[in-house]
Amino acid sequence: MAMKDEQQPLQIVFIPLPAPGHLIPIADMAALFTARGVKCTVLTTPVNATVIRPAVDRANDASCVTEGTALAIDIAVVPFPDVGLPPGVECGSAVNSEADRDKFYHAIRLLREPFERFLAENRPDAIVSDSFFDWSVDVAAELGVPRLGFIPTSLFARACVDSMVRNNPVGAAPEDPDAPVLLPGLPHRVELRRSQMLDPKKRPEYWAFLQRVNAADDRGYGEVFNSFHDMEPDYLKHYTTTLGRRTWLLGPAALAGKDVATTGDSNGLSPDEDLGCLRWLDAKPARSVVYVSFGTMSHISPPELRELARGLDLSGKSFVWVIGSAATDASEWMPDGLAELTARGERGLIIRGWAPQMLILNHPAVGGFVTHCGWNSTLEAVSAGVPMVTWPRGADQFYNEKLVVDQLKVGVGVGSMDYAWKLDARRVVSGEVIADAVERVMGHGEEAKAMRKRAEELKEKATSAVKQGGSSYDDVGRLVDKLLMARRSAVDV
Ligand code: UDP
Repeated sequence: MAMKDEQQPLQIVFIPLPAPGHLIPIADMAALFTARGVKCTVLTTPVNATVIRPAVDRANDASCVTEGTALAIDIAVVPFPDVGLPPGVECGSAVNSEADRDKFYHAIRLLREPFERFLAENRPDAIVSDSFFDWSVDVAAELGVPRLGFIPTSLFARACVDSMVRNNPVGAAPEDPDAPVLLPGLPHRVELRRSQMLDPKKRPEYWAFLQRVNAADDRGYGEVFNSFHDMEPDYLKHYTTTLGRRTWLLGPAALAGKDVATTGDSNGLSPDEDLGCLRWLDAKPARSVVYVSFGTMSHISPPELRELARGLDLSGKSFVWVIGSAATDASEWMPDGLAELTARGERGLIIRGWAPQMLILNHPAVGGFVTHCGWNSTLEAVSAGVPMVTWPRGADQFYNEKLVVDQLKVGVGVGSMDYAWKLDARRVVSGEVIADAVERVMGHGEEAKAMRKRAEELKEKATSAVKQGGSSYDDVGRLVDKLLMARRSAVDV
């Protein structure tokens, strides 16, 4: 490969998977590198470009002001493959049926060809690729540039998945859904119920895919995480020393260079989002409101909806609940009385569109977060110092729950038992259990107080990590230096 002019800024192309939980942290991460003099391009498709545009524009404004750099993040687009999806459906969160999901995954596979062409034509110095694009390891090797894998998950969960796909402990466990399954080789004893884990026999294709992803990350130059040293030091050591994988922890990327409570940052997905919820929160006492959201990909079944409404009612807490468009008229599933109170805006607020989650979590009135443990949401709660009621459904979420509840001790689980996306495949958690978990997190007891204290301490650590001299700030610098060295020598990739 021809050597580049050393005076040229380092160039990184970021390739996120087209889903909000992957796009948002990639945009935030590109902003971190731009602020350090790297020329960053996010490669995606037209609709996904509009998804990240506000975050990128904001990052560009901020980097010009705060760091005096003239660099701006570029967004490059290639057409979304025509696979028979309705026009405009290009993002994972917009896919609503099984049939469309298969088409969507097919489209993702087809993106390889135009993405590969873009990389060959533009020859960046490094590629930060969603780990789910496992092919990018080979493309980067052909171009002779480093490829850094990225999955929006905790290092803890990533280490658990590594242990799971290497050892397949589910395969060796008894068929009983309640059978305990131990993940071997981790710094702590991590045990789940069989029903809480991916079953390779039930989803062999996905299992094979995860194995490919893991092998690709292992072969690649290294991995970047939206996490920070102080949150999971044992897993950083495990990942780098025991597994021997080059790892940089750069987060919480959303916190870098801004004050989320005042800059109006709300992940910027929808410019027309309603900020009325913040005015509603303004009238509530400190830490009195529970925020409820299950992210962008999870759906809630009608019985779950009813029990959650009952649980919130029993908890006595006010709430902001992001409910999505699927749920019907609230009076059909809310307990009598609560529906009227909510309709009058007295007890709760229902958000059916895009919620300004970062602003809500950072509002002083919010004291707890009922979450599905998607990593972005989890990290946002950690960054805001808000303890969690954990309710995982699949993907990495059961592992993130373990991190939150057992390791960090900033959350209480509702006892979610089933790794299942199909709505009727999950056992329903009762309203009483939900109310009890909310009370344990937000009440006046010693347990809640201690949890609040730990959550506050963790928030301080998260904030320090991204400031100058913090571990994540330094990791960005170390990685940039390493990539500059790789460019000079054009070896060791
Ligand atoms: N989000 C938001 N408003 C919403 C729904 C989601 O800002 O109404 C953001 C949330 O703050 C997080 C991301 O979307 O940054 C969801 O990512 P996560 O990993 O928590 O869950 P996923 O949707 O990937 O399951």
